[in-house]
Amino acid sequence: MQEILKKSAMEQFKALKNKEVSALELTKASLERINDVDEKLGAFNSVTDTIALETAKKVDEKITAGEELPLLAGVPLALKDNMNLVGSKTTASSKILENFVSPYNATVTEKLLNNLIPIVGKANLDEFAMGSSNENSAFKKVHNPWNLNKVPGGSSGGSAASVAACESALALGSDTGGSIRLPASFCGIVGMKPTYGKVSRYGLIAFASSLDQIGPFSRTVEDSAALLEVISGHDPHDSTSLKLPVENYRKSLNDDIKGKKVGVVKELVAEGLAPDVDKAIQQAIETYKSLGAEVMEVSLPNIKHSIGIYYILATAECSSNLARFDGVKYGHRTKDANNLLDMYCKTRAEGFGPEVKRRIMLGTYALSSGYYDAYYKKAQQMRRIVTEDFLKAFSQVDVLIAPTCPNTAFDLGSKTEDPLAMYLTDIATIGANLAGIPAMSIPAGFDSSGMPIGLQIMAPQLAEAKMFNFAYKFEQSHDFYKHIANI
Ligand code: GLN
Repeated sequence: MQEILKKSAMEQFKALKNKEVSALELTKASLERINDVDEKLGAFNSVTDTIALETAKKVDEKITAGEELPLLAGVPLALKDNMNLVGSKTTASSKILENFVSPYNATVTEKLLNNLIPIVGKANLDEFAMGSSNENSAFKKVHNPWNLNKVPGGSSGGSAASVAACESALALGSDTGGSIRLPASFCGIVGMKPTYGKVSRYGLIAFASSLDQIGPFSRTVEDSAALLEVISGHDPHDSTSLKLPVENYRKSLNDDIKGKKVGVVKELVAEGLAPDVDKAIQQAIETYKSLGAEVMEVSLPNIKHSIGIYYILATAECSSNLARFDGVKYGHRTKDANNLLDMYCKTRAEGFGPEVKRRIMLGTYALSSGYYDAYYKKAQQMRRIVTEDFLKAFSQVDVLIAPTCPNTAFDLGSKTEDPLAMYLTDIATIGANLAGIPAMSIPAGFDSSGMPIGLQIMAPQLAEAKMFNFAYKFEQSHDFYKHIANI
C-alpha cells in the first residue's frame, strides 16, 4: 500500500496543497488499493473510477492555477450505496434495485462534488440498511479488515471497512439505529451520526425517515469534523432539514475540558459487557478524569426499552417507505405476471431479501387497524419518554459516554439464524436516534484477540462542536487511532 493512504484525510489534503502528491496520484493510489484488497473485503458494490478521476483532474487544475482548494478536495471517499450519484448504480444492496441507475444526485453527493472530493465507489451495506453485520447484502458479505472471519458491523459495513483498510480516507454512511457507529466501533475508526436534520436526506434511499441521518466515517476526529462541515447545511429539498448555518467544528477541537462534566450511562455499563469492553470503558473514565473532567454516573431509566420502541417505529416506517418498490417505477419487475396484483406480489417476493420482508411484515402489522394503538402509538409515546430521559441527563452533564456495543465484532455467520440476537447489538446506539441527538464512536482500544473497541460519546441536540471536542481530547490522549488494520 502507498504510504500516503495511511495518512488521515486532513493530512492527505495538506499533502495535496503542498504539492507533495497530485490529486490524480492520490485517487489512483486509492483505486489501486481497492483493486488489490477488495476481493477479500467486499467493501464495494461498484467502483466509480471515471467519476473519481475526473474530479481529481479538476483538483489538479486548480492547484496548477494556484487557486484555493475547497475543504477536503482531492481526498478519496466511499459513498454508501444507498445514496444517489449520477453515473452510478444505487442498489441499496438489494436485488430489487440491482440495475437502478441514479437519476439525480443526493444533496450530500452534490456537496461532495462541489468540494471536488473524488468518489471512488459505492460501498456495500445491509439490504436497505437493515442489519448490524452487513450479512444482509443481497450481493456479498463484507469482511472485517482486522480479521476476515469477523463481521465489520452494519449496516454501513462497506463504508467502515473501506476506511479501516485505507481503501479511502473517508466514507459516508447512514445511521437509523446505529449503522454508522456500530461498524465504526467494530472496524476501529471514527463514525459520527449528526443531530437529526443537520444533514439533508434528499437522495438517500429512505429506511425509517424519522430516524435516518447521513454522517461521516474517518480515521480521526478532525477528519470527521471536517467532513461534517462539507455535508451539513439547510436543504429545501428535505422538509426536516434544519435552517441553521454551517459551523466550523475544527476550531474548538482542542478546547480545554477541565471542569466539564462527563456522564457515564449507568444502564449501558451495568451488565452484559464483554470484560475487555468493560475494561476499555473504565480506562476511558480515567482518561477523562486525567483531562480534568468531572465524571459521574447518569441514569437513562428507559433506555432498556429502546430496542422494542425502535423495532416497531423503524419497521412501521420502512413498511411505508418500501411500498414504492412495486415493479412499476423502479428497478426489478417480475417476468411472469398474470395480472397487476400478481406482478406486485411476485416482484416483491423476488426482489426483497428475508430481513427486509420480515421488517415489512412487522411494520405492516404494527400499523394495522386494531394494533396501531397498542404498538405504533405506544412506541411513539415511549420514544418521547426516552427523549426526556436524555434531556434530564443533559441537564446534569455536558456529554454522555457508553460503549458503542457491549461486545467487539463477532464471527461471520454466528448470528444470522437469530434475528433477535442481531437486534440486541443495537442496545447502546438506538437511543440517540430516538432522541435525535448527535452521537459518535471513536477507537478506545483492542480486546485480547486484537479486535477494536469503540467508545460512544453522545451530546445534546446541535452540540456537535462539544462532542467533537470531547472526542478529540480522548483521541489525542492515546494512540489507538494510529493503529491500522494489517490487510
Ligand atoms: N442495526 C439496526 C437495524 O438493523 C440499525 C440499522 C441502521 O442504522 N440503518 O435496523
